[in-house]
Amino acid sequence: MSEKFDVVVIGAGPGGYVAAIRAAQLGLKTACIERYKGKEGKVSLGGTCLNVGCIPSKALLDSSYKFHEAHEGFKVHGIDAPNVTIDVPAMIGRKDQIVKNLTGGIGTLFKANGVTLLEGHGKLLANKQVEVTGLDGQTQVVEATNVILASGSRPIEIPPAPLVEGIVVDSTGALDFTEVPKRLGVIGAGVIGLELGSVWARLGAEVTVLEALDKFLPAADEQIAKEGLKILTKQGLNVRLGTRVTGSEVNGNEVTVTFTDSTGEQKQTFDKLIVAVGRRPVTTDLLASDCGVESDERGYIYVDDYCATSVPGVYAIGDCVRGLMLAHKASEEGVMVAERIAGHKAQMNYDLIPSVIYTHPEMAWVGKTEQALKAEGVEVNVGTFPFAASGRAMAANDTAGLVKVIADAKTDRVLGVHIIGPSAADLVQQGAIAMEFGTSAEDLGMMVFSHPTLSEALHEAALAVNGHAIHIANRKKR
Ligand code: FAD
Ligand code: AMP
Repeated sequence: MSEKFDVVVIGAGPGGYVAAIRAAQLGLKTACIERYKGKEGKVSLGGTCLNVGCIPSKALLDSSYKFHEAHEGFKVHGIDAPNVTIDVPAMIGRKDQIVKNLTGGIGTLFKANGVTLLEGHGKLLANKQVEVTGLDGQTQVVEATNVILASGSRPIEIPPAPLVEGIVVDSTGALDFTEVPKRLGVIGAGVIGLELGSVWARLGAEVTVLEALDKFLPAADEQIAKEGLKILTKQGLNVRLGTRVTGSEVNGNEVTVTFTDSTGEQKQTFDKLIVAVGRRPVTTDLLASDCGVESDERGYIYVDDYCATSVPGVYAIGDCVRGLMLAHKASEEGVMVAERIAGHKAQMNYDLIPSVIYTHPEMAWVGKTEQALKAEGVEVNVGTFPFAASGRAMAANDTAGLVKVIADAKTDRVLGVHIIGPSAADLVQQGAIAMEFGTSAEDLGMMVFSHPTLSEALHEAALAVNGHAIHIANRKKR
């Protein structure tokens, strides 16, 4: 007799591991299947996010920012730090240690919550049976009342730039360079391309980002994207829009990329090339042909608003389903599904998932952009506040960027908060909380914000919506 669980989760990324922990907390007998092997050759939990995504990229962003500050930001404070150098292997080693600590921590959480870890590859069979092929090749079948598919995503590869070990790499390879490349090419000016490009630019690489679209960050509010492009360009990132990569050729230790832009075909040679053109769901060998779960031609598993697939008792969450490919979206879906399985009426507000780009300054937003609202014919009032007018930002010598609050012109309800500036990721969360409770710009303006904080920029932008900002001249006075 095969072992039977209330819930079997396939994949231990931020979607799967969170779902498994929540299900176990709710008293459900839960197993989670994971096959990914980390650098030490052992199964490593945490998925893309902890192993090769959010966490390692932020570790390198933080290290490289400190180096950059020591070089260029200290002088203004009267700090002289000559001969600051970077030890790349030490920086990578620190990143690896953080990954090890966090991924190991998930195993501890599984034990503490009573989640059974099944190491190996999981495959959904008919009738909610799940086949687990262990790392030794042995298979076992477990039975489940509920199955949660959380198989995540992997980088897209494009024919013009096939990966070549150590030279043409995806985001995972770009987290493990052993030295700073002199000339770095990045294909794709999306979140991942900009973050990884920034890491190596701060350490001294000459970075060229090749982006096929004419528009920079099309999902962002246009004002934020325009400001972002201006600031990143000033930092030395050469972002070439309207530039489509059509081929690449590796010669020895360098790669020559062919691309077309408005002037025709061109070539440029780099020491390393990062392919960051997006991610696609992982569903290879996940679904037996008779399991009943359907996916589209790109591999996304079809689900409804509650992450239920077409098979009762089978759910799918995170990067392998529709929606933003973000860790916090995956985790919240995991919680929602676990709670629904336990009989709760959980749901998720897909309209208020914050997006963040961890460049410096960070860019972050929640809700709708001004252009999207205008396209929908919604009349809005907009308030902005530049960090250049924030005392706290001045004290920190970190004044680039602005906060923008968009409110419905009729009801004053906040419909979007868009920020580029220091700690934008944390500041935008205040906007998200306010919006979840249906706050008006006036409500936000009436809150008491500590002084001096970066958060005051959000306060002032909310006041500016109705012409009441104190520390800048208002465009309209009331
Ligand atoms: P994943 O994290 O991909 O996890 C899926 C897991 O399932 C994997 O461990 C995989 O091995 C396992 N698996 C798949 N199939 C099977 C199977 N058949 N059997 C057993 N196991 C299986 N998001 C943010 O929100 N913030 C960030 O700052 C951020 N930075 C990023 C930086 C980079 C460089 C990258 C690449 C991504 C980043 N992301 C970020 C995106 C984030 O990592 C993903 O959105 C998130 O990991 C999705 O979670 P998931 O659980 O759906 O899938
Ligand atoms: P994202 O999906 O946000 O990670 O962004 C990936 C980016 O890569 C998108 O903006 C694409 O337009 C861009 N892209 C995809 N293929 C190419 C290509 N061949 N040349 C240049 N840019 C590309």
